[in-house]
Amino acid sequence: MSANGWNLEHSYAQLPPLLHEPCEPTEVKEPRLAIFNEKLASELGLDPAELSQPFAAPLFTGNRLPPGAFPIAQAYAGHQYGHFTTLGDGRAILLGEQITPSSERFDIQLKGAGPTPFSRRGDGRAALGPMLREYLISEAMHALGIPTTRSLAVATTGEHVFRQELLPGAVLTRVAASHIRVGTFECISARKDAGALRALADYTLQRHYPDLLEEKEPYPALLYAVVERQAALVARWIGVGFVHGVMNTDNMAISGETIDYGPCAFVDAYDPETVFSSIDRYGRYAFSHQPRIAQWNLACLAEAMLGLLHEKPEKAFELAKEAVEAFPARYQQHWLAVMGAKLGLSKATEEDQPLIDGLLDWMHRNHADFTNTFRLLSSENALMQAPFEDCDFVTWHAAWLQRLGDQANGTAEAVKRMCSSNPAVIPRNHLVEAALDAASNNGDLTLFHRLLRVLAMPYDEPQDAAFIEPPTATAIPYETFCGT
Ligand code: AMP
Ligand code: MG
Repeated sequence: MSANGWNLEHSYAQLPPLLHEPCEPTEVKEPRLAIFNEKLASELGLDPAELSQPFAAPLFTGNRLPPGAFPIAQAYAGHQYGHFTTLGDGRAILLGEQITPSSERFDIQLKGAGPTPFSRRGDGRAALGPMLREYLISEAMHALGIPTTRSLAVATTGEHVFRQELLPGAVLTRVAASHIRVGTFECISARKDAGALRALADYTLQRHYPDLLEEKEPYPALLYAVVERQAALVARWIGVGFVHGVMNTDNMAISGETIDYGPCAFVDAYDPETVFSSIDRYGRYAFSHQPRIAQWNLACLAEAMLGLLHEKPEKAFELAKEAVEAFPARYQQHWLAVMGAKLGLSKATEEDQPLIDGLLDWMHRNHADFTNTFRLLSSENALMQAPFEDCDFVTWHAAWLQRLGDQANGTAEAVKRMCSSNPAVIPRNHLVEAALDAASNNGDLTLFHRLLRVLAMPYDEPQDAAFIEPPTATAIPYETFCGT
């Protein structure tokens, strides 16, 4: 281990060569640190003091590599909006895997670090706004308790990138359990390299599902385990109103972490058909479609893994089908647990589905704010507040109270559960936009830091009510752009 705590290993680079290419970051003109995650640095075993200015900026743009780095770009493929494409890290470079003091292994990746062999026509760069956006939303997701990649730093490059207009360039340092995607499996499967496929599956088992190595049939077990983690993950997204926005198979991590924050956003007024991404014209990745799309992506994974599941193709197909078809029931279980907790239920069952749907339908009809409705339910005078005086709501509320009455410890316990399941603060789109606008156009990160601070404790009531207020009518509809 080096003096400043870097302890990099390179297990991924030992996988078959078709999975990666050596690739150095391209030097930038004027590196400057925009934000640095000291707490995460400490958790990784890095010394925050050693990583402060002036050393940090060259490090977090790729101008200077940490000791022991062996930079590579990863190859992958993916179904983008349903169409198969060969991809790979077009602007991200993996420096290595940091081994933490508690022996955990995390990828350290620079996103926006310059062209790679997979850049196609892209410039290999990223703009400051979208990199700060990934930083903010990934850290918010982490604080909400949702599995996600993390953000260690954003550094500006002193160069411009062209995205319809000239924008300040930046590099994000992303920390992930790994960057193995559904698309990584698809990439090898397309090359029909059985040995490489097995090596990747063994590596994935070792790194993310070591307990399954004991199984008699570890590969079908791996597929089931990925199904399970995705079912759990998407249920958690749905529970906070998160729309990923671009759930292509290359943006689905095998580890079960949320990855690749592009045109993502959080629902304000509840509408299951909410779409934010300007390029998602047919609403493929709309809020309520996410479970279905996750299952579709898992079918791509199952197909890519066919050769591993069984030596007989018919049997392999059957196993794949069974695993993918297990998704809806697994998702339903997780959804009931998540939504049940939001209503204060200690154990929600199928019988509670009408109660949950009843509230969601009411919210939809009344354009009620998703986050605030759940949060207000646990306040004592909920019924006195607009729009809850509504007669349909009063009927629903009575049924809900009756259901709570069936539980041991009734409402007191329920309120406690609800307060830790219903965030007060989410990254409100209009606030995120205002913070990024000030940072990107005026170099002013004041609002960004304030937002980051309240989002770090999302279940606490913020002192400033501005952080929980829904957008004004003029801020709707919100649209995110893919020019990331
Ligand atoms: P995404 O939509 O961000 O998941 O990216 C899809 C693919 O496009 C990935 O292979 C990226 O590496 C690549 N890509 C995105 N932006 C750029 C860029 N500016 N330069 C090169 N490749 C890019
Ligand atoms: Mg991606």
